Amino acid sequence: MRRIALLGATGSIGASALDVIARHPDRFAVSVLSAHARVDELVALCRRHRPQHAVIGQAGKYAALRDGLAAAGLPTQAHAGPQALAEAAADAESDTVIAAIVGAAGIASTLAAARAGKRLLLANKESVVLAGDLLMRECRANSTQIIPIDSEHNAIFQCLNGQPADLAKVAKLILTASGGPFLNRSRAELAGVTAEQACRHPNWSMGRKISVDSATLMNKGLEVIEAHWLFGMPAARIDVLVHPQSIIHSLVEQADGSVLAQLGRPDMRTTLACGLAWPERVASGVAAPDLGALGALTFQPPDRATFACLDLAYAALNAGGTAPATLNAANEVAVDAFLHGHIGFLDIPAAIAATLDACDIAPAADLDALLAADAAARRQAGTQVRRLAGANA
Ligand code: NAD
Ligand code: MG
Repeated sequence: MRRIALLGATGSIGASALDVIARHPDRFAVSVLSAHARVDELVALCRRHRPQHAVIGQAGKYAALRDGLAAAGLPTQAHAGPQALAEAAADAESDTVIAAIVGAAGIASTLAAARAGKRLLLANKESVVLAGDLLMRECRANSTQIIPIDSEHNAIFQCLNGQPADLAKVAKLILTASGGPFLNRSRAELAGVTAEQACRHPNWSMGRKISVDSATLMNKGLEVIEAHWLFGMPAARIDVLVHPQSIIHSLVEQADGSVLAQLGRPDMRTTLACGLAWPERVASGVAAPDLGALGALTFQPPDRATFACLDLAYAALNAGGTAPATLNAANEVAVDAFLHGHIGFLDIPAAIAATLDACDIAPAADLDALLAADAAARRQAGTQVRRLAGANA
């Protein structure tokens, strides 16, 4: 029986994970569920999945969670605050942690799971971007197995059969990108797009932050950095290919010219079932793609000039040190401002570029250095967002 701590249970990945888990009560049980602020939703999930522990990220909501669990007649213990989240990730009652919190807020719990030697089903890509070197070192030191829960990296993981990438055999990793809702649009056409339009992804149903990241191609940029750390691949050997149907989730090019790919419908339950059952396979609730009905799969290069975030991510990865942490924090601030209608879509890359220019890059010596860079970048990006919002007004 796999005992699972699901951090970020109320999100899009959280819902997909619980769907797969509930299909296999003989194999999977939930030991911990967490949410950021929505107590009622968390209590409802506890009623259904009966974890030992529930954690609400906002410390001030402890009493509401405790009382809600008691009113529901549940024995689930209530906890609150960021420290409790990190403790829940290391809890001895679980052997598996699904890291499905969005943003750099997931770093402490992701690292705690890595240090505790859990099977780490890693959806929280921002923590890899922020602290990839540190995270991979903790995983090696504690024999922690990471199974990527990002469809692209999970595809590569499957193509490599769960083994480390052998740089003598693997020539390139090729990450596919849907291109998002604004594929083939010009800069002029992007100037006035709204948050609602950006969140209307053609293939995937996801949280709002990653939906905007998909629209700007920053999601693919973050994934390039993620692939670099997860598979030890140099940036120059990670390519991005636009594939609008989102059926091929990524490809691994071998030294002899052979290319392996993984295919599936764009539904994260397939990815989560793979991670939960690996190396076995279990039903996910998702059928295999009907290639005959699809007829054609198409490919095109990304438009790097229009979607500037992709090259900003490559530049941050090549700059190294705290630059990816700066990129990630600036992106979180800019996307949040866009979602709130304060800045335009094209202001997102502008704010990130200006933040990267203004912030010093330091070595990524330890978590303190990375968190300091994250905080400085958030302050700087806030300044840039206010400047851009003023220019639009
Ligand atoms: P979401 O916004 O739907 O859910 C986020 C979850 O994190 C929620 O449960 C929320 O309560 C929790 N959370 C948010 N802020 C928090 C904080 N400060 N402290 C504690 N908890 C907090 O997001 P999502 O789409 O499920 O994405 C989650 C992660 O998975 C992201 O890193 C995303 O990039 C990654 N991911 C998502 C998908 C997808 O299909 N949705 C695919 C690949 C990767
Ligand atoms: Mg992805």
